[in-house]
Parts: sequence; structure tokens; C-alpha cells
Amino acid sequence: MNSVLSIRNLHAAVEGRPILKGVNLDVKQGEVHALMGPNGTGKSTLAKVLLGHPSYEVTDGEVLLDGEKILEMQPDERSRKGLFLAFQYPASIPGLTVANFLRSAINARRREVDPDYKGISIPEFRKLLTEKMDMLEMSHDFAGRYLNDGFSGGEKKRNEILQMAILEPRIAILDETDSGLDIDALRIVSEGVNALRGPDLGVLIITHYQRILKYIQPDFVHILMDGRIIQSGDASLAEELEERGYTWVREQQELEVS
Ligand code: ADP
Ligand code: MG
Repeated sequence: MNSVLSIRNLHAAVEGRPILKGVNLDVKQGEVHALMGPNGTGKSTLAKVLLGHPSYEVTDGEVLLDGEKILEMQPDERSRKGLFLAFQYPASIPGLTVANFLRSAINARRREVDPDYKGISIPEFRKLLTEKMDMLEMSHDFAGRYLNDGFSGGEKKRNEILQMAILEPRIAILDETDSGLDIDALRIVSEGVNALRGPDLGVLIITHYQRILKYIQPDFVHILMDGRIIQSGDASLAEELEERGYTWVREQQELEVS
């Protein structure tokens, strides 16, 4: 059975101010969705609600992963259920290498499926790590680095994508915030998603910029404006957006309303 992340009539507020005003979206395993929209329309708010960030209050609606309500779950539980949220571990942790971090993450994920799982052996883990790093064309030295310690923007992205490759989530949410997304980071994320996409992975990539979509061909494109998805389509919607800008979408909306 294919996994589905189902966002239903989601309303959320920040500091008492409503930001999300009824978001509906289904992301299925095997599909790549792009969520786009002008700045300040609630894209990152949606990502943070899915992550379980405490500053974002859900005021209505529901988010289900394979029919299970996830909004009541702690962030780590969501992750063990197969949801991947890229900015989950932003802090640097002294003395913890990328490899050790990934090893404990994979054990937690596998224990969710099999409570008696003994833990991945070092040789098996090393094989898996090497395989994934090669697939992502990453230098093997990276695994020995301390987690997030002095990582450049591109290295942070690399770490995220490697984490995603190792954890094999069913649904991944990537919020490509505008800050720090230089061409290098953009390329790393895009190539990573392209290498990992397939029938077992569903992706929701959140971005302000159409340019990421030059590297990733999404199956579906959605436009979020003022806290709601106001239009959905295929990749040609992103191209149209690139040509005509967000004001075009707004004008269309106004035409429909009047
Ligand atoms: P986007 O990612 O689409 O640019 P955001 O979700 O970041 O938009 O922001 C939507 C609105 O919510 C903005 O007006 C922003 O100022 C506000 N907002 C988001 N996060 C916070 C926060 N932690 N505290 C106060 N306001 C916030
Ligand atoms: Mg944002």
C-alpha cells in the first residue's frame, strides 16, 4: 500500500495571528509535489506545523499519515513513522559525527517497524553509508565530520540529503527557505531529490523560487497564497508562473471571484 500524507483543512496561527486558513493537500509515496508562493504566505509555517514546532498553533484541521493523526505526535515519533523533515536537527552537537548520528537515527527508525530490532551492525552500516554517499557523489570524509559543526550552506544541505537517503522516509518535506539557497545548495538538493525519487518516496518541496524547478521536474505544483492553496497543476504551472509572476495568479483569482 502506498503511504499518504494528507493535510486536511489545516488552519494554524502564529502568536494569535491566523496564517494557514484551510490548506488541503495529499502527498503520496512516489509523487513529487512543489509548493510555491510569494513570501509571507505561510509556506514555512506549513513546514513547521508538519514538523511540530511549538510556536505554531493548529487551530483547525488535521494531518494524517496513513490515516494516523500526526499532529499529536512528538517530532521524533513523526520521523520514526516515516516522515522526513529536513530541518529537524539544526543544532551542532559536539562530539557527534555524521556517521554516528545517522546510525542512531536508522536504529530508531527500524525499531519503530520492529521493536526487537537489535541495531544495525557496523559492517552493514558502513556498507549502507558508502552506498548512499556514492549514489549522492559525496566524499567519504564527510561521514567523519562533527554534525553541523562549521558546516557551510552546501554541507548542511548535503547532510540533509544524506540523512534522507539513509532513513528512507516514505514522505519527505523540504523547505528550501530563500536565505542561504545559493546555486550550489540548490544543485545539491535537486540532485539529491532526483537520485532518491522513486516509487517509495513522496516529496513535498517548498520553495519561493521557480528556479529550483529547473532541476527538479515535479509531478504536481501548488500555489499557496494568503494561507490557502489557490491553484494546483502539473509542471507547466511552474513554467507559467516563471513567465507571468505571482500577480498573474492573483489577477486570475480576482477574475474568478468577480
Ligand atoms: P513564507 O515561508 O511563505 O515566506 P512564513 O510561513 O514564513 O511565509 O510566514 C507567514 C507569516 O507568518 C508572515 O507574516 C510571518 O511574519 C509570520 N510568521 C511566521 N513565523 C513567525 C514567528 N515565529 N513569529 C511571528 N510571526 C511569524
Ligand atoms: Mg519560508
